[in-house]
Amino acid sequence: VAKRLEKFKTTIFTQMSILAVKHGAINLGQGFPNFDGPDFVKEAAILAIKDGKNQYARGYGVPELNSAIAARFREDTGLVVDPEKEVTVTSGCTEAIAAAMLGLINPGDEVILFAPFYDSYEATLSMAGAKIKGITLRPPDFSIPLDELKAAVTNKTRAILMNTPHNPTGKMFTREELETIASLCIENDVLVFSDEVYDKLAFEMDHISIASLPGMYERTVTMNSLGKTFSLTGWKIGWAIAPPHLTWGVRQAHSYLTFATSTPAQWAAVAALKAPESYFKELKRDYAAKKEILVKGLKEVGFKVFPSSGTYFVTADHTPFGLENDVAFCEYLIEEVGVVAIPTSVFYLNPEEGKNLVRFAFCKDEETLCGAIERMKQKL
Ligand code: GLN
Repeated sequence: VAKRLEKFKTTIFTQMSILAVKHGAINLGQGFPNFDGPDFVKEAAILAIKDGKNQYARGYGVPELNSAIAARFREDTGLVVDPEKEVTVTSGCTEAIAAAMLGLINPGDEVILFAPFYDSYEATLSMAGAKIKGITLRPPDFSIPLDELKAAVTNKTRAILMNTPHNPTGKMFTREELETIASLCIENDVLVFSDEVYDKLAFEMDHISIASLPGMYERTVTMNSLGKTFSLTGWKIGWAIAPPHLTWGVRQAHSYLTFATSTPAQWAAVAALKAPESYFKELKRDYAAKKEILVKGLKEVGFKVFPSSGTYFVTADHTPFGLENDVAFCEYLIEEVGVVAIPTSVFYLNPEEGKNLVRFAFCKDEETLCGAIERMKQKL
């Protein structure tokens, strides 16, 4: 394997989902719903296929989808963007992230990353040859240590890569935190790459896109996807929204990574993004109920559960159960209890920092959540 990827193992999500199947364990690990996406979106995909929308799409997106994404972004943030020049459709947000890194970061550029982080960030930054500077978000509230951030951002910083609502902790960046990031970026001429795939799963406060803060749109790449909002994680439809000079970099990388994204799925995404507001309301209401079941259950089992304001994850402290670290705990949980969680140490530059924490996903039907809680109550 190439040096730039030598230190990375098989992603934890693949490892854990394989173990889940092998041990017949209930999978609260990898974040994918165990229920299906809405019929109106699936039907739109079937229609698109039947209608012959099956050859390569335009590289940066089916025009109707670029427009639907721009309209949705305007609805959500108030920002008016040009669908032709500022929106790029990618194969999931993970590709948008990779395209942003590879298209806008030079080898040796310094990029700031908040730990814990979704695992692809470190790997794609490594592929781009970036120099990573980590800032750790600590329990119980995982707020940004603003003084550390201020000390870390200098005129050597090229970009900050951030994620709100935040995977794996469920933390949402507050307006004050976003304003601090914004003023540091403006002062030091720094770009922001913002992964907002859980924006519709914001329970405790309103989601704020950093691009909507004064002076930020011109230096921000906002990335999102269909997967979480429409329970269609396997479709891999994502996008990046950025001013033309940044979109250029994203598109150059995207053109040579995947060139274009699945055509019928893009047509179905147009239908999805036109969903009435009631769809988004119901989604949030359903997830809030699932979250309550999981949080309450985990507390009853004896975990210390940290507050999660958004995403479909909660983070808990497993130390009451006396296992050596998060990996040992998750192995025990799979083999002896029959439940899968994600050890969070894999999301840190220094794994030690995550050794007390595990992540549980609640994007599962009620029966599955209750079944997992029941197993833990009996066997932990
Ligand atoms: N984003 C999902 C999670 O964090 C899974 C992504 C993946 O499997 N690579 O669980």
